[in-house]
Amino acid sequence: MSNDMSNTTSTNNPSDKNTIDCEEALKRLFEYIDHELHGRRHEEMEDHMSKCRSCYSRLEFEKRLQQHLKNATEQKAPQELQNKIKKLIHKL
Ligand SMILES: [Zn+2]
Repeated sequence: MSNDMSNTTSTNNPSDKNTIDCEEALKRLFEYIDHELHGRRHEEMEDHMSKCRSCYSRLEFEKRLQQHLKNATEQKAPQELQNKIKKLIHKL
C-alpha cells in the first residue's frame, strides 16, 4: 500500500488574481454600498470599480438613488400633502 503525498502540490489558482467579473461585482453591489463587505471581498470590489467603468457608473447611480430615498424618508411630507394623497387613494 503506497501512501505518497504528491497530490498536495498547490496549483496556480486563477482566482488568485484578486479580480472579480461584472456579474460578481453586481451581486455584491448593495452590500458594498451598505458597507457590509469586509477584507478581501471589499478589496475585490474596489479593484473592480477602479477598472470597470460600467460597474462604477452603476455604483454611482445606486448610491445616488439610495441617498435620494433616504432624504425623501427623512423629510416627512407635510400633513396637507398627506391628506391630499389619502383623498386621492380613496377616490381610486
Ligand atoms: Zn464591471
